[in-house]
Amino acid sequence: MAPEHWLDELPQTRARAADDDLSILCADPYPFLGDAAVRRQITRLSGHLAGLADAMRRRVIAYSLYVRQLDVIQAAATRDFCRDDCMRPPVGCCNADHFQILSLADVMVARPSQTAMELAHVIAALQRQETDFELDSGRSLTSGHCGCLASDGCTLRLFKSPRCVHYLCAELGGSLTERFGPAAASFLAAMAQVAVQTITTTADFTDPAILDAAGTLFAEAPPARA
Ligand code: SF4
Ligand code: SF4
Repeated sequence: MAPEHWLDELPQTRARAADDDLSILCADPYPFLGDAAVRRQITRLSGHLAGLADAMRRRVIAYSLYVRQLDVIQAAATRDFCRDDCMRPPVGCCNADHFQILSLADVMVARPSQTAMELAHVIAALQRQETDFELDSGRSLTSGHCGCLASDGCTLRLFKSPRCVHYLCAELGGSLTERFGPAAASFLAAMAQVAVQTITTTADFTDPAILDAAGTLFAEAPPARA
């Protein structure tokens, strides 16, 4: 289901975006999103997360906007391959709870910053809400795989984990190289790096260079913006 449906149903603590959220977040470029979608996402999440400190609320919203851009990129570049040519059917790489952002081992060994821990915690709560909304809308979870996997695919659109949103298996990587040629190399390298990196700070959740690299992939035929 399109993310707007969930955004529009999110309970609002404040009826408008928090002061400065729109001006600060809209100042960043979102090459794969339309202006209206960006403003709507900021406004609804800002109203829902009004109880958070300003800086944390903006981090959470910025993460959702980043994930949504990767969702557009995946729809244009990878989703067909995952649906039709996956070597690990029926669930591909959604075979375990990869929605989890930090494992106990990550917390004990990498010792993420307090801010990174809080960001992971807030995202986890929003993941539950996003999945619950999809289930209330009639989708049903599979059993024995990822706890966010419905029978027709992932229930997360805005709050997939960094691992999920950046993971590309070797076969999919090969397909992208075949399709896009040398232009795929920097995109694949950046995605692979973030998919496996240990999270210690909030900067480890995303990599804006991936959006630049994806822009190169689609230089001749950009995908429709969300
Ligand atoms: S990334 Fe690879 S393993 Fe995962 S669903 Fe796509 S094709 Fe399958
Ligand atoms: S969160 Fe979504 S993409 Fe990630 S493993 Fe679960 S079902 Fe797959």
